[in-house]
Amino acid sequence: MRRPRQITLAIAAFIFTLNSTAAFSQTPLPRRIIIAAGTVFDGRGHVLHDTRIVIQGSKIVTIDPKASPVDYDLRGLTVMPGWIDAHVHISWSFGSDGKNAGGGGTTPEATLAAASNAWVTLQAGFTTVQSVGNPSDVTLREAIAKGSIPGPRILTSAEPLAGQGEQTGTPDQIRAFVREQKRAGADLIKIFAAAGPNRSDPTLSRAQLEAACDEAKKLGLRALVHAYGPAVRLATMAGCSQIEHGVGATDDDLKLMAARGTYLDPQAGLIWENYILNRDKFAGTPYYPKTPEGFDSMQKLIPLYHDFLKQALKIQGLKILFGTDALAGSHGRNAEEFIDRVRDCGVDPMMAMISANSLAAEALGLGSQIGSLAPGLQADIIALDGDPLKDITAVRRVVFVMKGGVVYKTDLPPNKVQSKQTIEVTP
Ligand SMILES: [Zn+2]
Repeated sequence: MRRPRQITLAIAAFIFTLNSTAAFSQTPLPRRIIIAAGTVFDGRGHVLHDTRIVIQGSKIVTIDPKASPVDYDLRGLTVMPGWIDAHVHISWSFGSDGKNAGGGGTTPEATLAAASNAWVTLQAGFTTVQSVGNPSDVTLREAIAKGSIPGPRILTSAEPLAGQGEQTGTPDQIRAFVREQKRAGADLIKIFAAAGPNRSDPTLSRAQLEAACDEAKKLGLRALVHAYGPAVRLATMAGCSQIEHGVGATDDDLKLMAARGTYLDPQAGLIWENYILNRDKFAGTPYYPKTPEGFDSMQKLIPLYHDFLKQALKIQGLKILFGTDALAGSHGRNAEEFIDRVRDCGVDPMMAMISANSLAAEALGLGSQIGSLAPGLQADIIALDGDPLKDITAVRRVVFVMKGGVVYKTDLPPNKVQSKQTIEVTP
């Protein structure tokens, strides 16, 4: 469609004005923000003491114990990079009837619920999430990226590929589906290659998985595969980037993943705890048991998932990510998964933090932008009231959240922090 000539001229004139203004005016540098911290995890496993983080605009510019004046005094807290959750369903919510409404709704209620999920997730210390996903995520991602509404940075799969055996399509049709998601704005491709832990038969063939993951790779996208049992090996052999869940994989399958650098994103409880907690809201909705009693059997799945994570921890070189599978009821409670991993599976607390910092950033292909506290990286910074290395429940007490240099939460405990105002004045 051609634009009317007058509009084209008006746009040209506007761009000219903008350019000439830029040429004569000096853009002021964004304000510096300085954070004083007693204990800092850098996101890669190192701990810094008594230092200051200097932020300008959206980025960290330096870490310098002598920098002043201080804007936020976070001494007495544990400071670290904002967490990254590699597996959420950001738009899933409960509807106005209180029942699970799933995700992807486009009603005003569903849209507001998705925005609310984004807000509570950010407030809980998660500054980036990977939503796996549905098409409505794209609009939410854009609104947050523009700064129209607050929320974590979102990466999304748009529409996932649901494996249904031959019905899924030929390899060529699957490649076309992957290209369609790229056009729709997907950051990654999500693939379902098995039903669940009790029905782990692969729902896609090796050739179908290869088509999906190879096409994704050609387009510069990663492919995340929901897989159990034998589907784990199939997806690994097919060159897919990451395995979600994974229960039922053998040691040999996991060793193959380690050798090929395939990420594993297992869960240690939150997903099942959430279903049991909210059983009345899930009961009778599509794909869930009809009655609240039907959720009793889920209790038995929790030890299965614990055992699987313990099994995976023993595999040398296997890259184990933090991903919660957060959906209706668990948004904003993503950090409970840290507690499950450390308390119930013996995950080292620092490893748990790294799995949601530098390792997750690397898995998302964003290692040079987020997941660590270092000059040049995005200023995604959170602070916990407590030390998660001594007491993992400190992850529930996120009292400070900054994303891209913007502060979204300063709920600082008065007994630990002298002042959140400037404590030194520039001469
Ligand atoms: Zn999921």
